Amino acid sequence: AQRNPGQPEFLQAVTEVMESLWPFIEKNPKYAESALLERLVEPERIIQFRVSWTDDKGQVHVNRGFRIQHSMAIGPYKGGLRFHPSVNQSVLKFLAFEQTFKNALTTLPMGGGKGGSDFDPKGKSPAEVMRFCQAFVSELFRHVGPDTDVPAGDIGVGGREVGFMAGMYKKLSNTAGSVFTGKGLSFGGSLIRPEATGYGTVYFAQEMLATRGQSFKGKTVSVSGSGNVAQYAVEKALQLGAKVVTVSDSSGTAYDPEGFTPEKLAILMEVKNHHYGRVSDYAAKVPGVQFLAGQCPWSIKVDVALPCATQNELSEADAKTLIANGVLCVAEGANMPSTNEAAKAFEKAGVLYAPGKASNAGGVATSGLEMSQNAMRLSWTCEEVDARLLQIMQGIHAACLKYGKREDGSVSYIDGANVAGFVKVADAMLAQGVI
Ligand code: NDP
Repeated sequence: AQRNPGQPEFLQAVTEVMESLWPFIEKNPKYAESALLERLVEPERIIQFRVSWTDDKGQVHVNRGFRIQHSMAIGPYKGGLRFHPSVNQSVLKFLAFEQTFKNALTTLPMGGGKGGSDFDPKGKSPAEVMRFCQAFVSELFRHVGPDTDVPAGDIGVGGREVGFMAGMYKKLSNTAGSVFTGKGLSFGGSLIRPEATGYGTVYFAQEMLATRGQSFKGKTVSVSGSGNVAQYAVEKALQLGAKVVTVSDSSGTAYDPEGFTPEKLAILMEVKNHHYGRVSDYAAKVPGVQFLAGQCPWSIKVDVALPCATQNELSEADAKTLIANGVLCVAEGANMPSTNEAAKAFEKAGVLYAPGKASNAGGVATSGLEMSQNAMRLSWTCEEVDARLLQIMQGIHAACLKYGKREDGSVSYIDGANVAGFVKVADAMLAQGVI
């Protein structure tokens, strides 16, 4: 804590991982060597820069840009860019740290990184967003590259923003190298990449439910958030026969006791992706949908909860409410949406609980598949990418079971994900010497 003052999110993420690793390292002392843990909690490089841009009225604004290059031990730095006013070094360091373990879990050769800006895309015109993206890349471009660091999207950064940044990168570097993933299909994007995080989260939850002889069929599901991850989590859960009753954003929850249908989801996507609207606008358009202003979805009784919005959106009190209402499974589509206390409460109550670094790894895994397709200069079909995504999520689930099994036979997905991810990164670090 002394070395990282004012970085609560980073300390929270490190604490969660260390609590899992400690008992494992006591049994496997080779991992206590060479200051492995001390090295692992220190990003290899942090880049911070000024981003100046001009709005439509000609006024100049200054934002902060960051790239945290956390670990290159198993491949180029890889992780998304977030544009949100809450972005600071603590948030991005926690995300880059988590990303390193997550990427290891996918089994693909990707190191960990994360970046972004405190720029707020809300209310900005498309031209302003483009100018900001170009200004951001005018500095970032010198620190990234197909074999160095490959950014992608995250909160506030979707296909449109990745397109603007990939275009500017090309112009500045005079190469068509694949330095962003989440690109549009017409310039090297992968089918299923937009869907991958949400679909992957549901695939992971499906594996968890299967350990108790259950499935999504007939289950009531709550989803938080209404962005990229949330939308495709809703879609896949519906396809698997679930009744999805909520989505949300930072202003409140849209609650639909009758449940989503594909038609209602299409309306949500239109409101969010084409009009950059709010879930209250969605609720106003669809009869029977209630808007619960200022509320999270967690007070609603469900079998499965999929938090897909942002960090620390699910508190210990929320966890207790979900548990009291009989929740069976919680799989995180977002990064660290549950506080450490909430996560512990779920495990203590015997709820099937998956931390984001395991259950939301499908997004970056499919980014890895996009990199492979770009390197081979070909593109795979939807079916092929989706089949690989499912297989990767099943593999991560199996790794969690292997490393997370407790003596009483129960499974801690927290320990499983942390230890499985750590072993791969740590072995690579040990093999490559003290660098
Ligand atoms: P989007 O920007 O598409 O959507 C974010 C959603 O979360 C919006 O509904 C937003 O609502 C809500 N949200 C953001 N901040 C807050 C907040 N402070 N309080 C309440 N709601 C909030 O982002 P994504 O869907 O891409 O990302 C969602 C989560 O998933 C993040 O944690 C991200 O790191 C994680 N993730 C994303 C991956 C991807 O492939 N995109 C991969 C792996 C993880 P509002 O519009 O009101 O801000």
